[in-house]
Amino acid sequence: MARKILTTSSGAPVVDDQNSVTAGPRGPLLIQDWQLIEKLAHFNRERIPERIVHAKGSGAHGTFTLTRDLSDYTIADHLNGKGKQTEVFARFSTVGGEMGSADAERDPRGFAVKLYTRQGNHDIVGNNTPVFFLRDPSKFPDFIHTQKRNPVTNCKDPEAMWDFWSLNPQSIHQVTILFSERGVPATYRHMNGYSSHTYSMWNKKGERFWVKWHFKTRQGIQCLTQAESRRVCGVDPDHAQRDLVEAIESGNHPRWTVNLQIMAEVEAESYHIHPFDLTKVWPHGDYPLLDIGVLELNRNVENYFAETEQAAFSPSNLVPGIGVSPDKMLQARLFAYQDAHRYRIGANYNDLPVNYPRSAQPANYQRGGVMAGTRCPFGNGNNLSGSAEVNYGPNSNDGPVEHSAFKEPPMPFAAGVIDRHDHRPEADDYTQAGALFRLMNADQKQQLADNIAGSLAGTSKPVRERMLSQFDQCDPEYGRMVKEALAIR
Ligand code: NDP
Repeated sequence: MARKILTTSSGAPVVDDQNSVTAGPRGPLLIQDWQLIEKLAHFNRERIPERIVHAKGSGAHGTFTLTRDLSDYTIADHLNGKGKQTEVFARFSTVGGEMGSADAERDPRGFAVKLYTRQGNHDIVGNNTPVFFLRDPSKFPDFIHTQKRNPVTNCKDPEAMWDFWSLNPQSIHQVTILFSERGVPATYRHMNGYSSHTYSMWNKKGERFWVKWHFKTRQGIQCLTQAESRRVCGVDPDHAQRDLVEAIESGNHPRWTVNLQIMAEVEAESYHIHPFDLTKVWPHGDYPLLDIGVLELNRNVENYFAETEQAAFSPSNLVPGIGVSPDKMLQARLFAYQDAHRYRIGANYNDLPVNYPRSAQPANYQRGGVMAGTRCPFGNGNNLSGSAEVNYGPNSNDGPVEHSAFKEPPMPFAAGVIDRHDHRPEADDYTQAGALFRLMNADQKQQLADNIAGSLAGTSKPVRERMLSQFDQCDPEYGRMVKEALAIR
């Protein structure tokens, strides 16, 4: 087959891509060399701002298969009809590191799934941990600053990290998970995923349920020890990316069993655990897992930048039958994720093929903005941004109209007062972290204590003492083991 002719981005054939235009063989260059200028200018713009968090990630396409009809709980189209399949795009990531950081760092892992349903995209933007460090979003930027680089030294700063945690006991549950055996998953295939937040669902009778999502790996949990993680970070910083690509390429498609925990709306009022507190799980003994489907990843991306880097997940990508909960962290993320994509990619980020609601038919009155006019190449619906069609509603021109069938049932709200309510003293921060510690075997407990001591050892005495007090309150054995591990450092 004849090779394609090299062209500029405007399609003009390129005659010479080896030599710049110069006045004489020794130069200087001439500004009339528009081919060179276009090439250098595009190269300068090859990067978009990396995500503030979850910058380094790996993505793949696949399917979600519903194995249990959920019409008792939700009108969501993709959750109605046993056996229904929905296309998905998933992205896994580390959190604190930059785009070039190592995959094997001790860090939570992002676990984001975009389901291209017939009623729009439904995103579940979770982590490999069922809880988070915080329950109030006002502390998120502060917390992330402690995970990033010191503003003066530009180095990672364990003192800042532990100082923050020692002053925020609400983080102890997630800290315990992070420094446990599971704190460094062996690969993205060998970890669970969790919505972490409580979401809601509603059915055709208008009944609401509170729901947590769990994705249980079918590859089995596999982890790296601290020593293994250090070695892999040095030897192959991209090991998890490589593993995912190679597994899918060889037909070894990773799968997760999808489970839900479901709570009737009214039970939230009397449940002894605050059901919208992101630092807490619902114990399985109270709310057992309901097996509802299988997530499979079976197709690698063809263009890492276009797909994985530009993938724009948002907890606000919801569809009829799926709603939010009052979880304060979730409420802030509903704003923050879309805002980040507008900054990172531009106002029309949903026009890009990876984000386009390919199984739905987007139709609205949004117009203009950067890169308006894209027609996403799936052939089942045109994005109207920038087209000549009517751009206001109501109108007499047959433009799109609302549909009341998808109305969410009203959510009761017990009258209270508007204030900056103190989120700190209300909750028991130690019980669930202690429960996690107690379910570990002797070796796992020792790994936890050693991993903590390795990181905490270089911090100041007041920080160490505050942390030891926290471990002690989770479980006296936990406190004692960390103290002993610190003593031999
Ligand atoms: P269960 O014994 O019913 O469940 C324990 C859960 O802990 C399992 O889901 C297990 O995952 C998971 N697990 C085991 N080791 C670790 C670890 N090092 N890091 C993170 N998760 C781990 O207990 P409960 O439901 O009563 O919960 C007890 C504690 O287990 C909680 O306080 C919480 O810390 C932790 N946990 C609870 C979850 C929940 O949704 N209830 C979810 C995850 C953790 P697997 O089954 O895959 O082995």
